[in-house]
Amino acid sequence: MPKPSTDSIHGHDYYDVETGAFRVPLYLSTIFEHPDRRTGESRKSDRGFEQKYSREENPTVRGLEKVMAKLEHAKESLAFSSGMGGIAAVYLSALSSGDTVVITKESYGTTQDLALNLAKFGIKTVLAGPDTEDFVQKIKPGVALVLIETITNPLVRVVDIPAITKKCKEVGARLVVDNTFATPLLYRPLDHGAWLSVHSVTKYIGGHNDIVGGAIALNDPLDLVELWEFRRRLGSIMGPFEAFLALRGVATLKVRFEAQCKNALALAEYLEGHPKVESVSYPGLKDSPYRKMADKLFLEKGVYGGVLGFKVKGGKTKALEVLRKIRVIKPSPSLGGTESLLNYPLTSASKTISPAVRKELGITDTLLRLALGLEDVDDLRADLEQALG
Ligand code: PLP
Repeated sequence: MPKPSTDSIHGHDYYDVETGAFRVPLYLSTIFEHPDRRTGESRKSDRGFEQKYSREENPTVRGLEKVMAKLEHAKESLAFSSGMGGIAAVYLSALSSGDTVVITKESYGTTQDLALNLAKFGIKTVLAGPDTEDFVQKIKPGVALVLIETITNPLVRVVDIPAITKKCKEVGARLVVDNTFATPLLYRPLDHGAWLSVHSVTKYIGGHNDIVGGAIALNDPLDLVELWEFRRRLGSIMGPFEAFLALRGVATLKVRFEAQCKNALALAEYLEGHPKVESVSYPGLKDSPYRKMADKLFLEKGVYGGVLGFKVKGGKTKALEVLRKIRVIKPSPSLGGTESLLNYPLTSASKTISPAVRKELGITDTLLRLALGLEDVDDLRADLEQALG
């Protein structure tokens, strides 16, 4: 089986016999001949879905899906207009009135927010964790769906995914792993018994802060049909231009991700020793409570992700001052692109999490999240040094 760096470049398998082109072209066409004049039948994509209209199936999007499936060691993948588009399709296809979904408390705020808003359709959401023990305990018989993140944020926790997977199997719950922060380079949920792996392609897969997209990877052909139908009904397929850019982005995933993780480790170590910093959350730090689990689960040794959290001394005023003073690093949400971004979780990713849960998780008004890009580490360190004062 090829290694991820090879699959990320060649995994689309595109080859045009006529022209000899072996890079996936951008098919902006909304419509395709239907029925096929040669046969009188519907044209089908390589996986058997009708290829007639780009809200349903598109050849450029298909190229990205093939790469994602290979990277995740999955049989299939579906690409969406955003990570949330993918998560919405998962909820709608997997949950019925009366069902319960268990979600990690430290998951992306909108992932929780959407689930909580399904209460009006009779779906119950239980927030669990953030650590393994509480999470496992809340996966009770009758739970339909469980959603965790490989690496959470902003406090960058790594839970015991094998223990959660085992409990899901015992009670018959389907496990969804949001693999956005780890990428398939660090973890492949389906290899370990998860039902689905989901991504915000907007982040490391796209990698350049110039697209919004999502993807899911799975094995079961019947579930693929269910999810494909929901994507079609919702109209949440990825646009072909975004898929084209995502294909270009994912080709360099390994070199980008490794460089970002190297920057993250260097800056976590720097911040840990800084007199104006109260604490640093990063699983690569020797005394991180999540270091052992990261070493156990992650596929690349010495690589711990490209995002860290840190709390400054001096209250909210100081945190907001750092955000104002940074120059090379930009104050912005998101992660995984070329630019390093500093983010204030209270007003972005964790905004929709209730104050009580934020308090329990340790998401305070002094917490900042740093998502590393690809700039020179000395320039990033110098930028933080001047901003921290
Ligand atoms: N999952 C995680 C872990 C995220 O951080 C995000 C967005 O930040 C999403 C899902 C949603 O993805 P998108 O913004 O592409 O809809």
